[in-house]
Amino acid sequence: MIKVRFAPSPTGYLHVGNARVALINWLFAKAQGGQFILRFDDTDIERSKPEYVEAIRRDLSWLGLDWDAEEFQSKRLERYQAAAEKLKADGRLYPCYETSQELEFKRKLQLSRKQPPVYDRAALKLSAGEKAALEAEGRKPHWRFKLSAAKASWNDQARHHDIAIDLASVSDPVLVREDGTFLYTLPSVIDDIDMGITHVIRGEDHITNAGVQIDLTQALGAVPPAYAHLSLLIDASGKGFSKREGSASLQELRETGFENLALCAYLARLGSAHAPEPVLSLRELIQGFDLADFSHSTPHVDLVELERLNAKLLHQMPYEMAQERLGLDEGFWLGVRGNLKKLSDAKQWWDILRQPVAPAIEDGEFTAIAAGLLPVEPWDETTWPAFTAKVKESTGRSGKALFHPLRLALTGQEQGPEMKTLLPLIGRTRAEARLKGITA
Ligand code: GLU
Repeated sequence: MIKVRFAPSPTGYLHVGNARVALINWLFAKAQGGQFILRFDDTDIERSKPEYVEAIRRDLSWLGLDWDAEEFQSKRLERYQAAAEKLKADGRLYPCYETSQELEFKRKLQLSRKQPPVYDRAALKLSAGEKAALEAEGRKPHWRFKLSAAKASWNDQARHHDIAIDLASVSDPVLVREDGTFLYTLPSVIDDIDMGITHVIRGEDHITNAGVQIDLTQALGAVPPAYAHLSLLIDASGKGFSKREGSASLQELRETGFENLALCAYLARLGSAHAPEPVLSLRELIQGFDLADFSHSTPHVDLVELERLNAKLLHQMPYEMAQERLGLDEGFWLGVRGNLKKLSDAKQWWDILRQPVAPAIEDGEFTAIAAGLLPVEPWDETTWPAFTAKVKESTGRSGKALFHPLRLALTGQEQGPEMKTLLPLIGRTRAEARLKGITA
């Protein structure tokens, strides 16, 4: 059984990059008939907040993703504690007493000697007496995992080649802080083992972590999952996205009026071999989903392209789907959908086409003449230019003096959608009344 997880730390709002990782995990699971787990990596109790847990659930639900189980690391501390004890007993987790200033000093020294700034394992050489003396000074240990000397390698399923991390060039990672709290690495590995995660799909910023995690998984007597590391997204200015900066958060994209399906269609294809095309359900994205389609190149998030995709989706959106959201009549929807960029634009059209409009009459004599020149139906997009040409001919008006009073009378508004599209939808009866100053 394929099992994947999306493991956000609830320390901020999800941004497009997080949404892409969540979506790709979900699509991968669904395409294989597997399971998708939502796991909150909330061991950082200072920065993890219940409101972010809520926001993450809301954002994922808005995207259209569902999850088979929900887990919280903060509820599994005893399990991590037991695993840490086992690693200590096996000699793989060792106490260190250096302060951060001491470590910083060592690092600078190594760099000045042109040595890689890798932790020197000085703590491994401490005798029991030296440790006792340090503790008597009031120092508390933090605990490092003793990496094996081997290379950790895997065939990365999103990068499509073997990756090997030389663990000798990586510092033994701290797994437990001085205050006994766990850093990300140990809980993450234990959860992946306990929850039977078969594929870890995430951003490429975790590639070095994967080397460490493979070694740790093996130290815990388990078989590592498959790994897939996706290129990180960048914005138009070449910057990455970050939860802390709150840039391009899902909440913001939702409030701007993007359709979840447009965003999913975009994110599911970004950085892959296929151009994004609008879809009317996530099922369409599941069919044919393949990690092999993703490339190494760094994908740019282009909001203009997303807007285009959003509009294209609305232009195809069937009546039933729009009706659920807006509760409109079918004729109205089919008439206006081809003109929308955001679903919320439909409101403006509704007000003009389906609500009584109190016309704003600038010059009643002029609009009354225009009313008399309205052609007989059927009307289409050629009606407006033909009609205004006639009005121009008989009144001698042109430009703003011609168009502005007509728009005001017909729509009650200064601005709005193109009149050539609006006029046939307003229809002759309403148009005539409005031009005569009658609310219709
Ligand atoms: N909580 C980690 C993060 O948000 C999860 C990384 C992983 O998928 O292992 O970066």
